[in-house]
Amino acid sequence: MELNENARIDTSQVEDRRGSGGGGGMGIPIPIGGGGRGGLVGLIIAVLVALVGGGFGLNAATNGGGSDQGDNTSLEQKCSTEDALQQLDCRNTLYVNSIQAYWTKALPEAFGDQYRPSKTVFFSQGVNTGCGQADSGVGPFYCPADDLVYIDLTFYRLLADQLGAEGEFAQPYVLAHEYGHHVQDLLGTEAQMRRQQQRDPNNANALSVKLELQADCYAGAWAKNATGTSDAQGQKIFKSITEQDIQQAIDTAEKIGDDAIQQRSGRPVNPDEFTHGTSEQRQQWFTKGYSTGDPKGCDTFGGTL
Ligand SMILES: [Zn+2]
Repeated sequence: MELNENARIDTSQVEDRRGSGGGGGMGIPIPIGGGGRGGLVGLIIAVLVALVGGGFGLNAATNGGGSDQGDNTSLEQKCSTEDALQQLDCRNTLYVNSIQAYWTKALPEAFGDQYRPSKTVFFSQGVNTGCGQADSGVGPFYCPADDLVYIDLTFYRLLADQLGAEGEFAQPYVLAHEYGHHVQDLLGTEAQMRRQQQRDPNNANALSVKLELQADCYAGAWAKNATGTSDAQGQKIFKSITEQDIQQAIDTAEKIGDDAIQQRSGRPVNPDEFTHGTSEQRQQWFTKGYSTGDPKGCDTFGGTL
């Protein structure tokens, strides 16, 4: 993958809250993970839609305010210098720019709906969100209550060191997956799915898997079209994306499958606890989105919603 050094990095699409302390330690952390939600009904005010389940605890408290303010001043400066593309946060901002440029065009084309931009919040350790207080352990997530994507960028180190997903292209895949949840929010898919979960609690996890696989498929559709995305001045964001990059995304999808994470954590593989899909399913749906490049083909629900 090669990013275009002439593309302007639009930092207004992210919110840098890394300096603010993020409210870590506030409230009572309530850890939930894959399969653990049932016993916590009523305590969780909203459900975070995370990239990975099972192996990562999620801390959410009932006092979420989402009132933290970001300060983009230093990010803005950093991302307008010559070596901006050497910086993890600037590169990630550019990935966000590409993903949103894609959906601004693709959402009306595929579904007849207008795309509404959503910012990505960079935080460290802990953050107050519209879905409650969250800490880095949850991994990147989308909060439907405030329409924001949240990521502690140190997650990528964990992804590489602990899960073995080392390729750079894991990063835009992760972000594109989260923006897939934003698209599901805009289309009403997420709300429909939650209502269906309430009507049919025995299938809550299976429904969650379908939502997650659809987000993987949307990530694949973006990947296919990413080299066609441009900044506000019409400069291409990517110079190239290679088969090797796509393979890195597929490898990441494999590493974060529910079965892989359960195995890695030393637990027996239990399909009843799957919330995001197996390694095979996650690879398949990313690949489906990539091979067709058409988000309409990402019908993981098969008309059941
Ligand atoms: Zn997800």
